Amino acid sequence: MGIYGAMMKALIKNDMLNEAVHLFFQIPNPDEIIFVLFFHACARIGTEEALSLVKKVLSNLPNSYREKSNVPTTAFDAFIKCGDLSSAEKLFPKIKKILTSYGNLMNAYNKNNQPEKTLDLHEQMKFDKIEPDYLICYLLLVNACSNIGILSIFNSYGLNGMGIQAIELFNQMPRELILEETYVCVLNACSHSGLIDQARSILSTITNKTEKIYTTMVDCLSRSFLFDEAQKLIDHFEYYHSPSPTMLTTLLSGARNRRDCHLSEKIFNRIQENFPELKNRLTSSSILLSNVYASTGDVEKSSNIKNKLYKLGLKKTIGLSWTAINGRLFETHDQSHPQSSEIYAEAEKISNELIEHGHQYDSSWITRPLKQDETVASVLCGHSERLAIAWNFVVNPNTKIIQITKNLRVCGDCHQTTKLIAYIRQCEIIVRDANRIHHFSKNGRCSCNDYF
Ligand SMILES: [Zn+2]
Ligand SMILES: [Zn+2]
Repeated sequence: MGIYGAMMKALIKNDMLNEAVHLFFQIPNPDEIIFVLFFHACARIGTEEALSLVKKVLSNLPNSYREKSNVPTTAFDAFIKCGDLSSAEKLFPKIKKILTSYGNLMNAYNKNNQPEKTLDLHEQMKFDKIEPDYLICYLLLVNACSNIGILSIFNSYGLNGMGIQAIELFNQMPRELILEETYVCVLNACSHSGLIDQARSILSTITNKTEKIYTTMVDCLSRSFLFDEAQKLIDHFEYYHSPSPTMLTTLLSGARNRRDCHLSEKIFNRIQENFPELKNRLTSSSILLSNVYASTGDVEKSSNIKNKLYKLGLKKTIGLSWTAINGRLFETHDQSHPQSSEIYAEAEKISNELIEHGHQYDSSWITRPLKQDETVASVLCGHSERLAIAWNFVVNPNTKIIQITKNLRVCGDCHQTTKLIAYIRQCEIIVRDANRIHHFSKNGRCSCNDYF
C-alpha cells in the first residue's frame, strides 16, 4: 500500500474521519484502495455532507473502478449508512453481490418501512444463488413479515403460489427461530393457497399448539369447506381448553361463505351458550347468521334476527372509521364532518361509477329497517369506511394509497365495492377492520380472498 493509503487507514483507525476525507482530496490519481477507504470513511461519518461527497466522487469515478471492484460496493455501503436508500438501490445492480450487501439493503428496507422490498430482495438473492446466512437472513425476513402484517405478505408475493414459497421458507428455517407467529404465518399461507395436506402435516409437527394456531388451522379447513374436520379440531381443543369465541366465529364465517344454514345455526347456538356475556360477539355472530338466511332467500328468518337485534338495542356500536391524510387523522361516521357535503357528493360519484361497472347493492347487509328517506344504496354508501374512502378522494383525487381503520367488521357490500373502487380508481386501499387486514389491490382483489 502506498503512503497515502497507509495515512488514510491510520486516520480512519483513529476515528479521524473528516481528516481522512480531507486527505483524500489531496491525493493525485487515487487507486482502488484509496477510493475504498474514502467511501468507508464517508460511511462512518454518515451525514448529509458525507453523502454529497460520496455522490460527487462516485460520479467522477474512473470507469475501470466502476465494475468488478470493491469500490462500488463500499460506495453502496456509504449510501446505506448515510440513509440514501434510493441511490443505494440504483447502485445495487452494479456491485459485487455478497451476502453483506443483501443483508444491508434488506435491513435498510426494514428500517425505511418497505418490508415488501425485503421479501423481494430475498427472492432475488435466491435467484442470484447467494447462499444465505440463515440467522441474519431470517431475522431480517421475520422482521419484515412482522412489519407487513401477515396478510400483506400474500400481496407482495402475489396471492397464488405464496403457499409453496412460504413452506419452502419454513422448511429452511432453523427450528430455534420458529415462533408461534411463524406457524400462524405458514399455516395462513397454506390456507390461502388451498394446501390442506401441507397444513395438516405442519400442524402435526407442532408440539405446543396455541389457541391462535388452532384458530388458523380452523380457518384453513373452513376455507376449503372441510367443516367436519374443523369441528373435530375445535372439539379436540375444547377437550383441553375452554372454548374460544374467535375459533367458533371463524367456523361460522366459513359456514356463512358456504351458505350453510344448518351448520351456521349450530355454531351460532354454541357461541350463544358459551358466551352469553360477550354482547359484541353475539351481535356480530347474529349478523353473520342473518346474512346466511338472507343469502339463501330465507328473508323472514333474516329479518327476524335483525328486528330482534334492533329491538334489543344490541346494535349499539356505531361504525367508525379513521383515516390519516397528510399526517392528520380523520374520523368518519355521519354528517358531522365540516366538509360533509363534499364527502357525500364524492360518495355518490363513486356509487355511480360502481353501478356503471355492474355493481348491485346487496340489501342483505343492512341490519336495521330502512327509514323513509333512505334507500339500500344510500345506507350502504353511508358506511363509515365508504365515507373515509370518499374523503381521501376529496382531499386528493389522484391518491394512490388509502389506509383506513374501522372498529367493526367490514360488511360484504363494502368489501365488494372497495375491491371495485381500488380497481376503478387504480388506488390501493388497506382496511384494518375488527377482524383482520384487507389489502385491496388495483387489480380488484383483496388479500383475504373474499374470506372474512
Ligand atoms: Zn359496509
Ligand atoms: Zn378482504
